[in-house]
Amino acid sequence: MYEKMKARLEKIVPDVELRYKAEIAVEINELKKQKNAVILGHNYMEPALFYSVPDFTGDSLDLSRKAAQTDKDIIVFCGVRFMAETAKILNPSKTVLLPAEKAGCSLAESITAEDVRALKAKFPGVPVVTYVNTYADVKAESDICCTSSNAAAVVESLHSDTVIFLPDEYLAKNVANETGKHIIFPTLAPQPPLPLAGEGVKGGEGQLDYQLIGWHGRCEVHEKFTVKDIEAVRAQFPDVVVLSHPECSPEVVAASNFSGSTNAMIRYVQQTKAPRYLVLTECAMGDNIAAANPEKDMLRLCMVRCPHMNTITMEETRDALKFNRYVIDVPEEIRVRAYRAVQRMLEIG
Ligand code: SF4
Repeated sequence: MYEKMKARLEKIVPDVELRYKAEIAVEINELKKQKNAVILGHNYMEPALFYSVPDFTGDSLDLSRKAAQTDKDIIVFCGVRFMAETAKILNPSKTVLLPAEKAGCSLAESITAEDVRALKAKFPGVPVVTYVNTYADVKAESDICCTSSNAAAVVESLHSDTVIFLPDEYLAKNVANETGKHIIFPTLAPQPPLPLAGEGVKGGEGQLDYQLIGWHGRCEVHEKFTVKDIEAVRAQFPDVVVLSHPECSPEVVAASNFSGSTNAMIRYVQQTKAPRYLVLTECAMGDNIAAANPEKDMLRLCMVRCPHMNTITMEETRDALKFNRYVIDVPEEIRVRAYRAVQRMLEIG
């Protein structure tokens, strides 16, 4: 295991750390066999974990698909709580484990099921799209889910003049730009239902010709990148190709050469030949791409690790299997409604 990890990671992870983590990886892989478990690893996992124990790695959409297909008894989700919940929504009879109890997400925590119900009351009949970065009870209030890789396709699949798109403000603005839609961010003070686009006279929050209704949630990692950061790197490396995640601000996305989901960014680096790349997303993913593409020059702007993803460690993953913790449960009444929204997204692709 040490040799395998060293071949991939010797330029990324210090040797002493590799030796230590290789031993834990061996323990994890033995426990995985004994317990008939599958380990899913999100692209934001730290390199030593990412390249040693997951059976499958990828972004939320990939891993949701893998979770839907597994025949193992236990799913260990090396990611954050909303991802593990999605695995449980798709696999109610299996045990789903999240290695760190408090692995949350600033986006998921930005909105409640009650908020969604209030928005639906304010905009009756308008379909609701929620980003997968939400908890199960919020998904249960939605018509369909989306990820950053299929957000625009999901919105367009609804063939609706107006769509409620929750909860990421920047993703919503980027989708609005991509699909040519006008977006508003309403307040939730009690008032009568508002007329929809095309139904009323122009003027006022409820009577503008809007087609997307957003929410002010933000990813606490991606919101930190600025256009100034990009300009500073370009000043030193004019030939750099900049990739940004669509949870970054529209200004950062506009200043980048490419914007896409974590998987789309990985593919872009693999399939292109640039003098150097700068990937604006969670730090560990920059390391993981660098490890998979040693011949490419990857610049790092690595001041932001996700504090939630960061709680998933090799030790916690081993202990999750050893002690059967932390078990993710979703009440059945919420699960069946959330399942419809997730399954509808998976059918779109
Ligand atoms: S990187 Fe952002 S969106 Fe992803 S889990 Fe962390 S806070 Fe949530």
